[in-house]
Amino acid sequence: MVNFWSSVFELPKHFYAKVDSLCSAFLWKNKTGSAAGARVAWKDLCRPKEEGGLGIRLLEDFEVVFRLKHIWNFFSKSGSLWVAWLKENIFWRKSYWLTNEANCFSKTINSMLQLKPTVSEFLKCEETLVQGCFAFRIRKDARVVEASRNGNWVLPAAVPAFGNSQALMVALTDIVPPAQSNGRDTFLWRNIAGNYCPSFSSKETWEQIRTHSPLVLWADVVWFKEHVPRFSFITWLALLNHLPTRDRLRRWGMNTPASCVLCSTGVETHEHLFFECSYSTGLWGLLAAKFFNNPPFNLPAAASWILLFNLPHQSKASTVLKLLFQSVIYHIWRERN
Ligand SMILES: [Zn+2]
Repeated sequence: MVNFWSSVFELPKHFYAKVDSLCSAFLWKNKTGSAAGARVAWKDLCRPKEEGGLGIRLLEDFEVVFRLKHIWNFFSKSGSLWVAWLKENIFWRKSYWLTNEANCFSKTINSMLQLKPTVSEFLKCEETLVQGCFAFRIRKDARVVEASRNGNWVLPAAVPAFGNSQALMVALTDIVPPAQSNGRDTFLWRNIAGNYCPSFSSKETWEQIRTHSPLVLWADVVWFKEHVPRFSFITWLALLNHLPTRDRLRRWGMNTPASCVLCSTGVETHEHLFFECSYSTGLWGLLAAKFFNNPPFNLPAAASWILLFNLPHQSKASTVLKLLFQSVIYHIWRERN
């Protein structure tokens, strides 16, 4: 629903922040109130799974992609009523590139104009003369086709002071001049591989503008085709060290005993629960030893150990090991609670 309305209207930033907040509250509290006490910051959670998040897009950041899509529609959808209106009422005197923000423009128009630097990196028109206008005494909003006649380049004499104008003239001799009969300009958008395509991909555009985080090796151990969601979720929190263990609760100022409820001897930390505690050591050791002797007894090492089985001819063993690993973590945590 957010995607639909965002593709039609320029929505205020606080709308996206509110939707993000509602989603966070629903995830952590199972209701649409406050998300206070969330175990992972929403911004960290909104990373791709391979970067340690849950693969949710942060709407507050993703709204830039919606705005870029408006601009792509403006350039590429020449038959649209909205585009015709914009050209007739807003950009009738100057092109998008030469129009500056103004109080008389709506929020949507100013928002489109604010993104000119970003758009210039993504949008390409094969028949736009971008440089050299001044040197050749050409209007800034002139179209390339105006510089050709009957299949030949027709340019006024260059200003001698501009050293590169001659180089441009030489370069033009290798380019076939455009003709009206070739049809309209074609607009292209940069894809993730750096090539320009005649279509806009929100996903690929987002990948190019979002902030990337370091990859986490354990993502394949948590998220896989056969995963059980409640097991994966607790394992994900455990690998992030974000389960509310007693050492964390005490750091937050809560008056709770430090001892482990499973063995009553150690201090309850992530490292102790997974798997230094005598209870969890016995459980994980017994089950993991069914596959190989001497399995690792801490979470990151155990996850790396499981990844050694991530080979095509061992895919079934790898899946069973991942399920076993997650099931042990889930049931230890459940027993602890
Ligand atoms: Zn213990």
